[in-house]
Amino acid sequence: MISLEMTPQMKQIQQLTHWFAKNEIRPIAMEADKNEEVPYEWLDKVNKMGIHLNASSFSGGDKKKESSTKKKERESNRIAVVATEEMAWGCPAIALSLPGAGLGGPPVSSSGTPEQKERFLGIFTKDKPRWGAYALTEPDAGSDASGIRTTATKVDGGYILNGQKIFITNGGRASWNVVFATIDRDLGRAGQRAFVVEKGTPGFSCARVAEKMGLRANETAELVFEDCFVPDENLLGGEEMYSQDKNKPSGFKVAMATFDSTRPIVAAMAIGIARAAYEYTVDIVKKEYPKHGRLYHQASELLAEMEQDIIAARLLTWEAAWMADVGQANAKEAAICKAVAGKQALDICSKGIELLGPVGLDGHIVEKLYRDVKVFDIFEGTNQVQHLVTARRLYAEHDLYV
Ligand SMILES: Cc1cc2nc3c(=O)[nH]c(=O)nc-3n(C[C@H](O)[C@H](O)[C@H](O)COP(=O)(O)OP(=O)(O)OC[C@H]3O[C@@H](n4cnc5c(N)ncnc54)[C@H](O)[C@@H]3O)c2cc1C
Repeated sequence: MISLEMTPQMKQIQQLTHWFAKNEIRPIAMEADKNEEVPYEWLDKVNKMGIHLNASSFSGGDKKKESSTKKKERESNRIAVVATEEMAWGCPAIALSLPGAGLGGPPVSSSGTPEQKERFLGIFTKDKPRWGAYALTEPDAGSDASGIRTTATKVDGGYILNGQKIFITNGGRASWNVVFATIDRDLGRAGQRAFVVEKGTPGFSCARVAEKMGLRANETAELVFEDCFVPDENLLGGEEMYSQDKNKPSGFKVAMATFDSTRPIVAAMAIGIARAAYEYTVDIVKKEYPKHGRLYHQASELLAEMEQDIIAARLLTWEAAWMADVGQANAKEAAICKAVAGKQALDICSKGIELLGPVGLDGHIVEKLYRDVKVFDIFEGTNQVQHLVTARRLYAEHDLYV
């Protein structure tokens, strides 16, 4: 039976991450947004404190090690959503900039060979901040990930990559990117492979995307591969994992499986943003609105809607994370929580601005949150894509295909 009760460990992590978000993230959030960067000294400091976007939290961990760390593993997706909501409450751009494997973690933990996991996930130590990244989107393939054009040509000892990736979170500073490419476009999804491309590999270059509307402090990069040689040992999972047999994994399946664990995390970030905007708005309404009599009652309706939407989105998100923790297929629930949280969070930030009046648009945290939240109904699949995923599952469940 579904359990959304917080375990003692979840409560403890929630308290700790809230403390961190309030005392370490929030004080630098506005400045980082203005400067479009998180100071390296700050990242180095938090890395030494051991604060990471931890790969095993995103992925649910290594199932083979489950017996020794069973309890922790079973809570890992719920712990990740609880912690991420708090971090994003502090500032989503800074939360996304925290050192760690980030979105690159789940494909490596779920599909990497033991040697690859050790090599790529073992680098996140306290000596200096390091990042991992996930590179799927291309100029002509975003929502339709099956249409990627980056090619991987087999040569002796490895593959030659050619192509371009855009909008890659932390992609430029990452020690490695999980890069999706095709060995043969005619094979469609079965032709896709996932490679781990390390920073400094000849033929691999990147540039930062500047002046985004929101999440300005977080690096978004464009990656270019020009005759870039990647050795066989960097093919994620090894050649034996891939097959043209539809029932065996392809790079496409590796890419899509990542979303089942990361969409609830992205939803949790949207909820953290919405909660930050809501709490700030409540404070201002408390201080300012009693002076305006009738308006106070009008505000209560909007505040009630904001609170209801936050709770509803959080419950959907926790459900999807709980399903991942207990090993249930959660693609539909992950898509639903992402669609609902992204849409409601945007609406909640908009209501916050409405209630604050002109002050809400004046270099204010709610104004920043409003800019930050927009992308949450775009990345990790747009809302239309979440509807498609949900509809496909519904059709399959109700045998509606003709
Ligand atoms: C700040 C930021 C960070 C990002 N980080 C990453 C990252 O780390 N790694 C990565 O790989 N990508 C990343 N992305 C890319 C992001 O995932 C894509 O932008 C997103 O998937 C949409 O793809 P697209 O931009 O190609 O839009 P398109 O797919 O061209 O979509 C354009 C519009 O058409 C709609 N549409 C498309 N297909 C359909 C359909 N079949 N039915 C109905 N409507 C449809 C979409 O919903 C959208 O409204 C990031 C993007 C941003 C902005």
